[in-house]
Amino acid sequence: MPQFVNDIVNLFFPRLCQACGDALSPSDDQVCLSCMFHLPYTHFHRNPDHPMGRSLWGRVQCEGVAAYLFFRKGSKVQHLLHRLKYKGQYQVGTFLGQLYGQILVNQPPFNTAQLIIPVPLHPKRQRERGYNQSEMFANGLGKAMGIPVSIQNLRRSSISETQTHKGRVERWENVKKIFSVEDPEVLEGKHILLVDDVFTTGATIEACATALFEACNVKISVITIAYAE
Ligand SMILES: [Zn+2]
Repeated sequence: MPQFVNDIVNLFFPRLCQACGDALSPSDDQVCLSCMFHLPYTHFHRNPDHPMGRSLWGRVQCEGVAAYLFFRKGSKVQHLLHRLKYKGQYQVGTFLGQLYGQILVNQPPFNTAQLIIPVPLHPKRQRERGYNQSEMFANGLGKAMGIPVSIQNLRRSSISETQTHKGRVERWENVKKIFSVEDPEVLEGKHILLVDDVFTTGATIEACATALFEACNVKISVITIAYAE
């Protein structure tokens, strides 16, 4: 579309920042410069001794663990994730994945991964939403890091109930049997980046990793968009 048409469209339908809601300038994509500057980046990838990594100690043997952002209630990160999960803004996931992927592509052990696997969404929820937000994030990571994304191999059964109001033990009881590996031979010997949207208790990551370790001999690193403190 010609630039002047673009300018007129922007005048009447300004593209808005997915984090703060202000109008984006023409050179911005998804998130405005001010938000990009002020988002709460964890920098977890630089130093393995951080709370997200510690919460998986003794539960999942990981090569590396990191989240791009801190998740706090009422924050811009919560707003971003709300847009991604509930407002059809799937491109937010790809955008964040590409940004973090540009960092991780130079960061061991993450850059030695050979395959990216997003945590599958409950089939019913994926039908309702039309996409899996973790897969969108995985696609961005994969593009920036040059690593293929596999969405067929780790499967989620359709039996689990909503986890929102359950405690850690109950959540774990609930998720530990719902993931399965379709074709373990394809994964054998590989270093896998397991990818999710928000890391809270780690129960979902633990369940996925357990299913993968039981099915085949793999190494696992964990990457999420955000870590809830
Ligand atoms: Zn903004």
